Amino acid sequence: MHVRLDNPVDLDAFRRHARQLLASGVPPDHVEWSEGPASEASGDLFGGAPGEADAFELAPPPSMPSAARHPVPASFVALCADVILHRAPQRLALLYRLLWRLAHEPALRHDPLDADMMQAQLMAKAVHRDIHKMRAFVRFTRVADAEVGERHVAWFEPDHRIVEANAPFFARRFAQMRWAILTPERCVEWDGQALSFREGANRREKPPPDAGEQLWLTYYEHIFNPARLKLAMMRREMPQRYWHNLPEAALIQPLAEAAGARSQSMIDAPATPTRRIRAPMPLHLLPASGAAPATLDELRMAAHACRGCPIGALATQAVCGEGPVGARHMLVGEQPGDQEDLAGRPFVGPAGQLLDRAMAQLGWARDSVYLANAVKHFKYELRGKRRIHKTAAQREAEACAHWLDSEISLVRPQALVALGATAARALLGRPVAVQAERGAWVHERADGLPVFVTLHPSALLRLPDGERAEAYERWRADLARAREAPGSPSASVAMAA
Ligand code: SF4
Repeated sequence: MHVRLDNPVDLDAFRRHARQLLASGVPPDHVEWSEGPASEASGDLFGGAPGEADAFELAPPPSMPSAARHPVPASFVALCADVILHRAPQRLALLYRLLWRLAHEPALRHDPLDADMMQAQLMAKAVHRDIHKMRAFVRFTRVADAEVGERHVAWFEPDHRIVEANAPFFARRFAQMRWAILTPERCVEWDGQALSFREGANRREKPPPDAGEQLWLTYYEHIFNPARLKLAMMRREMPQRYWHNLPEAALIQPLAEAAGARSQSMIDAPATPTRRIRAPMPLHLLPASGAAPATLDELRMAAHACRGCPIGALATQAVCGEGPVGARHMLVGEQPGDQEDLAGRPFVGPAGQLLDRAMAQLGWARDSVYLANAVKHFKYELRGKRRIHKTAAQREAEACAHWLDSEISLVRPQALVALGATAARALLGRPVAVQAERGAWVHERADGLPVFVTLHPSALLRLPDGERAEAYERWRADLARAREAPGSPSASVAMAA
């Protein structure tokens, strides 16, 4: 008997035919299966009269052999749905043979090593893999369309007949855009509302590359990790037969060739600083509770373990000042930044580099001054993996003030330079309008130390490009004045900016 499926992936038609054959007691080796359009002379036995029932396990007609009354497991129906998508012509005969045997050999469903069952499962696996590869390797190209404005078109060459089965996935994933996937045997299109299918396309219909493709290639190049290159695994996951439709495939060989050198340069590069928060200092190393630190080392240890405000628990470490004891000037900033927090040193980030530059231009050696911050721990908020500086609240700055006081009394500078409003407030004990009071020596401290107020270098970094050069020159002039004024009483006259 010759049975034909007009549509080779029409599972319902196969089920109807198979059910009728089974009910009629036609053994598998008496059936010849074929697929494709009907021919006049084919003389199909069941082609024109499918049964009405839609499941193998429905009640058979009275004439049906009793063996065929056994329902087949639900897993077999699912297996049929996969295997029918396989390209091998013998799959229909295999499925009917399995159906016949399930009806006549009840033990078959419990035999995982049966050759027919294993072959069907291998076919289903191949279909699943092909579906997965299509989802992974379809690359859309944007195409201008006179009627609808814009469409995204992809060319793909599946191994099996998976286009219809896979189309709902793409419709869900790309519901908002109009797209078409062209394949040699079947094409699918989504207009934003519904899927439609048509006959296969020619490879020449594949659209030319667009700007998005260049973007994708740049992205691929950047995410390529030479240290994790495993060519054998890559070929297994991304078989070479797909490469001619993947724009990134052209990059694989040059990237693989350069992988060794790039890996070595990654090994040679200095280690990325740790971002782990260090454990608090052991208590026995801390100075006695309430006692003012007697040395700068004691002060560093105590500030590191300080939890006088919430900032301390979030930072990597306290960042106390650095410079010679007895330095003539102590320059005080706001708080450590991201890089200072990791390095444990003040003024090593971008703002510190700007300060270094200005001091070098003034011939003012960095190691001749003591550099410190008003707040000892880094306050930030997380944005993704980035730690963004956050100004300390007034109560936090006040909680930290005693550390700066201790630092001043241990270093014994002759003059203080406040860089920014937080430092100025910490040193003068009152709110300071930096722009109004900058460039002047102020004598308000109980200990008699003069305070010079100017901007923090980070304020310059935040300025628009067009304003930065002029602001920098003015700030450098402030620093020159701060350096030359010795902090003597005669310098108490405020200097206009
Ligand atoms: Fe202590 Fe100052 Fe750190 Fe707050 S910021 S925990 S007060 S050292």
